[in-house]
Amino acid sequence: MTSLAPTDPRHFRLMAALQERREELIALTQDLIRIPTLNPPGENYRDICEYLDRRLKGAGFETQLIRAHGTPGDCEAYPRWNVVARREGRRAGDCVHFTSHIDVVDVGAGWTMDPFGGELKDGKIYGRGACDMKGGLAASIIAVEAFLATHPDYAGAIEISGTADEESGGYGGVAYLAEKGFFSPERVQHVIIPEPLQKDRVCLGHRGGWWAEIETFGEIAHGSMPFLGDCAVRHMGAVLERFEDRLYPAMAARHTEMPVVPEGARSSTMNINSIHGGQPEKAPGSTALPSHCVPDSCRIVIDRRYLVEESLDSVRGEIVDLLEGLKRDRPKFDYAVRELNHVIPSMTDRDAPIARTVAAAIEEVMGREAEFVASPGSYDQKHIDRIGKLKNCVAYGPGLLELAHKPDEYVGVDDMMDSAAVMARSLAALLLPDDKNRETQE
Ligand SMILES: [Zn+2]
Repeated sequence: MTSLAPTDPRHFRLMAALQERREELIALTQDLIRIPTLNPPGENYRDICEYLDRRLKGAGFETQLIRAHGTPGDCEAYPRWNVVARREGRRAGDCVHFTSHIDVVDVGAGWTMDPFGGELKDGKIYGRGACDMKGGLAASIIAVEAFLATHPDYAGAIEISGTADEESGGYGGVAYLAEKGFFSPERVQHVIIPEPLQKDRVCLGHRGGWWAEIETFGEIAHGSMPFLGDCAVRHMGAVLERFEDRLYPAMAARHTEMPVVPEGARSSTMNINSIHGGQPEKAPGSTALPSHCVPDSCRIVIDRRYLVEESLDSVRGEIVDLLEGLKRDRPKFDYAVRELNHVIPSMTDRDAPIARTVAAAIEEVMGREAEFVASPGSYDQKHIDRIGKLKNCVAYGPGLLELAHKPDEYVGVDDMMDSAAVMARSLAALLLPDDKNRETQE
């Protein structure tokens, strides 16, 4: 069931224009799914950008294809292409930007549908990226086209971008564009990222992350006389024990103001991704016996997700303090910490114009109050916040986050239509500031 019935006569023509484009929305989503933009390695970025470029030029946009030269993964075989399109209004006003990532993650096992077929079945379109996030990208384009058809005299500007590499950190995509000034507050005032957060939720931001490798050291000796050496794995055991006794309880006791879903992610969390010490693992099928050695090195990789109330320094400092404590308490203990990556947490105020506007539009279209949420992981908002210095950004789009990256990923057509209605009405609220009654007067 779709709930586009106009509760407000001002939007009758806009909603009708959207209804007329239902088949076009389906076709557009299918076309996007059928361009396999797998990342890694970053395939067919140029193809999808050219497709979007043609489509948006047809809707009166000025477009730019931008390659993120020199960013991670960019090479002649897999260039990191992005497309940015802008359409000026007839009067001065704010610019609203919809930014979607064009890349999709690996297909993986377990599919019963063709992952790049874009098949429509029982009101759902299937394929890798259907929900994350080609359905959201298509919904935003259709929303903009319906808006342009009914309100060609809007104020300000509309921008749409398709960006590379979100699934691998966004460095060749939104981060690169932000560095080039595409998300500066002088150019863009409102950003909507149509990630699959559900059609009745406004996502205000996401937690931060810090990834690091910790190594403990030891001394090689014969395994029959371990007392002559120093076992790095036992030292790592002591690290893990401190994590269990001190770090995990301390993290669990911290609670955030951020409305993170699911609820378990409202505390600080840390995953230990891997552990390895001593000899390399045996090849599968190898029947060789182990050699007798005391290991001189043990490494773990940690994935620490942190809250907007914490700082990167405190997150890092907490772990270093714990390791320094072991250095005092435990004979011959020594360690190294190597930072692998970090992203800042980002949270837009729920009273920010874009958050209020989208929430009001959800209420109008869906007939119920919008829910404000935040994401446990991260998405491109971090770059718009930190590099672009733009705080007026939310994620809003169709689809269920739980389906992202899974086999038989799909997006519902009714959900896309409802989200497109919310996006179109958000445009009306932001770009038709002084003539809200225009439609009824005509
Ligand atoms: Zn995504």
